[in-house]
Amino acid sequence: QMEKALAEGEFIAYYQPKYSTKEQKLIGAEALVRWRRSDGIIVPPYQFVPLFERNGFINKVDRYMFELVCRQQMRWLKQGLIPVPISVNMSRMCLYDPHIVDEYIGVLNGSGLSAAYIKLELTESAFFENISIMNNVIEALHKVGIKVLMDDFGTGYSSMMMLKNVAIDVLKLDKSFVDDIGDDRSEKIISNIIYLAHSLQIELTAEGVETAAQFEFLKSVGCDYIQGYYFGKPQPAEDFAALLQKEFYDGSDAGADKKG
Ligand code: C2E
Ligand code: MG
Ligand code: MG
Repeated sequence: QMEKALAEGEFIAYYQPKYSTKEQKLIGAEALVRWRRSDGIIVPPYQFVPLFERNGFINKVDRYMFELVCRQQMRWLKQGLIPVPISVNMSRMCLYDPHIVDEYIGVLNGSGLSAAYIKLELTESAFFENISIMNNVIEALHKVGIKVLMDDFGTGYSSMMMLKNVAIDVLKLDKSFVDDIGDDRSEKIISNIIYLAHSLQIELTAEGVETAAQFEFLKSVGCDYIQGYYFGKPQPAEDFAALLQKEFYDGSDAGADKKG
């Protein structure tokens, strides 16, 4: 069904907001794929992304999502909204494709969007150990101004090798660390990961933040950005547009009420 679904536009993006920890301002979002079937059922990515990583179809879906988000951002700009940068996931499987960077840059240029409004998250899910390919891709993306985030940091085998050798802009601390906030040992690991990242001029986003206690701890140890249900769930484009509208136009204290 996958080729037909792609051709008929059944893959859509949900947008999950990201906030700065200090000021609690909306600073960006992540685009997360959903398969909206013709019967209206919304299929979450864990039910098809792993399969697509095995059969290679993920390259097409990721490229499609990149284009979809570039176009969406252009529409929001034209509507007079002030967009925030949106990150799009890219499976590491895509890195095996030697044309990947040219394709993505072609899509970006074709959309007319400034690179400042789009970022890429390299997911950890697929095992990929060729550091030099990864570095070439990141370098080429940096040349045109696209920032790169490392997703699910801390879960892979080679997180430290990546940190040592790859010119990443932002680390996304995996939810499994955030879940263990409250445990002394885990809190020490988190605060030292943040220290390590900052000493390498890398920013840090915590994923899967659900509670006030988790947020307060992350704030106290200097985590830069927060993404999680505590601030906002992944939501359809219309809802995210309404959030942009509210954030930037409706009153100056928009940062006061973020919870929910
Ligand atoms: P990810 O990139 O690490 O995305 C974060 C996931 O955590 C999302 O799940 C999001 O809904 C979920 N999440 C965020 N905050 C919270 C929270 O506070 N609590 C809980 N319990 N969950 C939270 P989602 O949308 O189901 O996506 C799962 C994974 O599927 C993504 O993890 C990513 O690895 C993959 N994925 C999603 N979209 C794409 C895509 O377009 N391309 C590729 N290659 N992979 C994608
Ligand atoms: Mg991600
Ligand atoms: Mg993640």
